[in-house]
Amino acid sequence: MDTDSTPLKILIVDDDEVDRMAVRRAIKKAQVQAEVHEADTCAGAVTTLKTQPFDCVFLDYRLPDQDGLALVQAIRAEGILSPLIVLTGQGDEQIAVDLMKAGASDYLAKSKISPGRLAQMLRNALRVHQAEQQASLVNQRLKESYDLLVEQHQELEQQRQQIYEQNLQLIQAAELKSRFLATISHELRTPLNAILGFSQMLMRPSKGALSDKQTEMVQRIFTNGKNLLEMLNEVLDFSRIEANRLDLNLKSFNLQTLITTTVDEVRSLAVLKQLTLATEVNLPNEVVFNDPIRLRQVLVNLLSNAIKFTETGKVWVEAHEISPDRLSITVHDTGLGIAPKHIAYIFEAFRQVDQTDTRKHSGTGLGLAITQTLVQMMGGSITVTSQPGQGSRFQIDLPRRVEVDTEKGNPEQGELEQGDMERRAGFAEAF
Ligand code: ADP
Repeated sequence: MDTDSTPLKILIVDDDEVDRMAVRRAIKKAQVQAEVHEADTCAGAVTTLKTQPFDCVFLDYRLPDQDGLALVQAIRAEGILSPLIVLTGQGDEQIAVDLMKAGASDYLAKSKISPGRLAQMLRNALRVHQAEQQASLVNQRLKESYDLLVEQHQELEQQRQQIYEQNLQLIQAAELKSRFLATISHELRTPLNAILGFSQMLMRPSKGALSDKQTEMVQRIFTNGKNLLEMLNEVLDFSRIEANRLDLNLKSFNLQTLITTTVDEVRSLAVLKQLTLATEVNLPNEVVFNDPIRLRQVLVNLLSNAIKFTETGKVWVEAHEISPDRLSITVHDTGLGIAPKHIAYIFEAFRQVDQTDTRKHSGTGLGLAITQTLVQMMGGSITVTSQPGQGSRFQIDLPRRVEVDTEKGNPEQGELEQGDMERRAGFAEAF
């Protein structure tokens, strides 16, 4: 029999010394290198097995204190895994089945003990034991991996839960911020409108009581107040966009007239900077179906940016038909332009190319974000091309007829807030 250099440790459990000798002899004859120990009772065998490991145990079925079945059960109950070969009397098949069920590795009738048989059994038992040990090791590793996976899964689940909760908090914080913006800008508009109204009254020539210096000061109050109101309206519009509460009020109107009127509205700003302000409108059909107030807002945003960021040269609006159903309006300027790396984010809310506290140009950084949302709501798109130092070109493509958003509906005038009514007053009459 092929064994490695270390002898096998074998325990023979039998109360009959002659039988023990027979097994010893058979092992020796089979040329198995073995260190053989003996026990003559069940109790003795269990004690020996608990103190040291054995490669194999041969045990007699009939023992003085208990039978072999009880011994097999006791050994296995102790968690001892050594192969157990039971030596039985003649022809008791049922006992053999019970022994195997209880954890015996094999059984052999004492009358059939021979060196060849014994060596064969020993070899089989060891092979099975080795395979069992390997399987148990693999199982152990699998269990460890499984436990690790379960642990990692639990950690991931915890992290997912944390992210979910943080998201909820962020959403709540964003909602609070939007509500705060809406409230504060709404509340600030009321006193501001009073300031604007009273300064307008003071500027009326009929009042006449103001000196030139005082008139100039009141004019400044009025201009600054108007700027402030525009910024507040932007913040309010933005908070409405975030809350999905901004709607279009669609109607038919003349686009050529709207462009000319809007350009005239911002002309004073261009004059102040000695810029040429022009329009090039070429529309075979001038009638469009859109929200004139919101389209005017888009144009005012683009035009005031063009004037704000241009020191010399020209700002001009150009409009033409792309097809009978689509139109394009472009605002050009010869201003400072936008570097390619900044173009990607100028449409984001609060983003400005110059984000420093010392920046030259005032503004909320919301104009283009609102403009883009409005254009998209109109079923259009906005694109920009720019050359630093040369100027910029903001182009909007729009459908001639804007479709009503059936999900949100087209709000009635009655649903508009007081402030919007004021913003629409006067201007809307022209269309
Ligand atoms: P605001 O004008 O209030 O700063 P906007 O959203 O309208 O905010 O514009 C964002 C930024 O895009 C501006 O701060 C500016 O840096 C850049 N920008 C917009 N229009 C122009 C333009 N015509 N020329 C150069 N830069 C522009």
